[in-house]
Amino acid sequence: MSAYVREFSEGNRDLKDLLGGKGANLAEMTNLGLPVPPGFTITTEACRAFLATEREPDGLDAEVDEHLRVLEQGRGRRLGDPDDPLLVSVRSGAKFSMPGMMETVLDVGLNDASVTGLARVSGDDRFAVDSYRRLLQMFGTTVLGIDADLFSVALERGMQRRGVRADTQLDADDLRALVQEFQGIIREQTGADFPQDPREQLRLAIRAVFTSWNTPRAALYRRQEHIPDDLGTAVTVQTMVFGNRGERSGSGVCFTRDPATGSPGGYGDYLPNAQGEDVVAGIRNTLALDGLAELDRPSYDQLMEVMSTLEGHFRDLCDIEFTIEDGSLWLLQVRVGKRTAEAAVRIAADLVDEGVIDLDEALARVPGQQLATLLFPRFAPDAERTAVARGLSASPGAAVGRVALDSETAVAWAARGDDVILVRKETTPDDLPGMVAARGILTSRGGKTSHAAVVARGMGRTCVCGAEAIEIDLDSRAFRVRGGPVVAEGETVSVDGSTGEVFLGAVPVGDSSVVRQMAGEDVDDPVGAAAARLLAHADSVRRLAVRANADTPDDARRARQLGAAGIGLCRTEHMFLGERRELVEELIVAADQAGRTAALDRLLPLQRADFVEVLAAMDGLPVTIRLIDPPLHEFLPDLTDLAVRVALEDERHVEDEHDHTLLTAVRRLHEQNPMLGLRGVRLGIVIPGLFAMQARAVAEAAADRVAAGGDPRPELMVPLVASDRELRLVRDQLEQVVADVERSRGLRLEIPIGTMIELPRAAVTADRIARSADFFSFGTNDLTQMTWGFSRDDVESEFVQDYLDQGIFATSPFESIDVEGVGELVRTGVRLGRGTRPDLHLGVCGEHGGDPRSIHFFDEVGLDYVSCSPYRVPVARWEAGRSAIELRPC
Ligand code: ADP
Ligand code: MG
Ligand code: MG
Repeated sequence: MSAYVREFSEGNRDLKDLLGGKGANLAEMTNLGLPVPPGFTITTEACRAFLATEREPDGLDAEVDEHLRVLEQGRGRRLGDPDDPLLVSVRSGAKFSMPGMMETVLDVGLNDASVTGLARVSGDDRFAVDSYRRLLQMFGTTVLGIDADLFSVALERGMQRRGVRADTQLDADDLRALVQEFQGIIREQTGADFPQDPREQLRLAIRAVFTSWNTPRAALYRRQEHIPDDLGTAVTVQTMVFGNRGERSGSGVCFTRDPATGSPGGYGDYLPNAQGEDVVAGIRNTLALDGLAELDRPSYDQLMEVMSTLEGHFRDLCDIEFTIEDGSLWLLQVRVGKRTAEAAVRIAADLVDEGVIDLDEALARVPGQQLATLLFPRFAPDAERTAVARGLSASPGAAVGRVALDSETAVAWAARGDDVILVRKETTPDDLPGMVAARGILTSRGGKTSHAAVVARGMGRTCVCGAEAIEIDLDSRAFRVRGGPVVAEGETVSVDGSTGEVFLGAVPVGDSSVVRQMAGEDVDDPVGAAAARLLAHADSVRRLAVRANADTPDDARRARQLGAAGIGLCRTEHMFLGERRELVEELIVAADQAGRTAALDRLLPLQRADFVEVLAAMDGLPVTIRLIDPPLHEFLPDLTDLAVRVALEDERHVEDEHDHTLLTAVRRLHEQNPMLGLRGVRLGIVIPGLFAMQARAVAEAAADRVAAGGDPRPELMVPLVASDRELRLVRDQLEQVVADVERSRGLRLEIPIGTMIELPRAAVTADRIARSADFFSFGTNDLTQMTWGFSRDDVESEFVQDYLDQGIFATSPFESIDVEGVGELVRTGVRLGRGTRPDLHLGVCGEHGGDPRSIHFFDEVGLDYVSCSPYRVPVARWEAGRSAIELRPC
């Protein structure tokens, strides 16, 4: 029994590890009795052996010989026979298709002698020489590594000489001249003649496939996709069929459904008198399948039948390569086809209706990432538009608005009801208010992990970043597009975050049909209906609840509409911003407790009003309110600005007592590492009354809501706890405040008090912390920063890309949870916490709560809910459903 080579009839589609995707499916089609040109596949095992020893494993040559003999006997022809040659293709095919692997070499076996034999047997001189020309070109570039341009330029020149536009218009003599020329190129570039021995051609081609496993492009792709480096590729050797034998021949690709829209019915391209990739190379205009029906009805009918057989067999959209040789149909490849998000959703639901798969499988087949792309607003597809610049598609969606060149302008214009596009060189945390206010964000610098890109994705804001042709000039309040127009601040632009394009003027946009459907609109769109149906199924099977991170009533309402079961993270930072900064300043510069209390007393009613609104928007659902987290200096003026102001005042002998005191306070609060400084629970302990004021605002808001007939469900969450002692102290304070409000308002309030677990110390002492906590919420953003020891902003602007390129990160640990490290801390926290309190309620907030892969992890470790930004809620529901299906014991 041969070890390294398998006949097509000896394989099947489950042997992708051994035969690669292409080889396994060719075997499958052969066994289905479909017309597949015979051949064999050299296994990945042979490749692995080759890569380990840098030579063909013992016995491989003999096995190839043996299988070649079988092929030859079956066809009654010998490889490269000068009188009647058998020709073969040599095709690479790994388990996963990847770029950088050797491209297929067709027509192996032709040489100066057999080309005449082929001409004679086929009765077509031109066809024979054309095939030889193709072999020299493909072999020269892919096996011998010669610059492809040398051949294509020579071909161009040949066509120019004859004054023709297509290679099909060259006659046999023209092609003979090219064969001469190509052989010359090979000799010149390699110092040796094109190998005339057909078996030598085959050996070299096989070896070239093996070595292509390690091309830098393939290796990089594997690192990025986390495909193991030691799989190796298979090599398929297959009898040639000829689509370039005249007008009754041709080659084509087809899909069993439309891969763009998912609509049922075959879809494809066909090119008469063409070979291999010609059909997709754009060298001539192709025909649709209808065109084939006109040309060759019997082949068309047969192809339709094959398509239906294959789809029935693979139970999914199939992508098929075929060739027609002189009226006979041959199949050369099949795989489950790639498709757009729209098509994925629609096809999955259609297959359910057709009784091919059940709802579980339909949902399992469509990753949440694909649903996500269906949720973004979009530009009307047929609207007229002219792109003026292009950057990176950092966060999808379609946004239209007036250009604002800084955060304050964006906020001001948005406040008066304008749609705004914030245009910056790059963004910093200072631009956050403007980013929140803007419809879209456009930057001229930075990549897909720049601050602008990450924050925009988190908020579901459209963002194009790194549009380098844009130069922003703050003096003239305009940006100039290099080689294009000048756009003044206030003019309208449209930004497409899905393509990276920037347009002048307003291109019409709308909610996607899927979002409209979710908002209860009656939308006549099969994709929207399919998505709604699969989402409903996800809801019916999932165990994980999905909440939203929402700070404002608007976000809360949006989240609710998108199916959130409450708020998992309501940040309170913004309740200290804007005009309230002044009160924060008072609080900080206050000389004594009386001064601090006065400032807090003025903040209280403002925050209470904020909470009332949020609780109303989430009536009946839990709202986890996080007490203030960031260091206080973030609410104070910038140290440098203030120092300059004070210096100028001093120079002019203006005595501003306030500014002086403020400067002292800012200096006092200045920290080397604010992320590791006075923030979170530490603020609650060091600044008396601060957390108590917030707790009082929450409790009073809840009491107000009860009085108004509502059903408020607030929860108080303490950030950045490291020690059970911290939480104990704070909890006592909070409980007192709540009890106080209960007494004075004469009612009972159920307000659970819990903590974030976002420091490694908290995770490993979670058993103790659980004694004072009703719930844990894993703050995986900070937990990631604190575990890796780097800050997100710094990492993302500095070295994420290098780490990704070098395979240290598969994805940024801020995007998808680092299961081995940070995930282990989550596991530990869960185990220890539940050890103390089996009913401890557990959730996660932060970016990871909306990330598909992370959601599966959180489900597996037994959290009760995930919380993510409102726009991600449907995606999280979807993934939680997929995860439940995946985890379900069979
Ligand atoms: P890829 O991996 O890029 O899909 P393929 O191995 O499928 O490459 O081959 C490239 C082209 O050559 C395809 O159009 C394929 O159908 C065609 N081809 C491969 N083998 C043969 C053959 N034996 N006879 C005719 N055409 C072939
Ligand atoms: Mg192919
Ligand atoms: Mg945090």
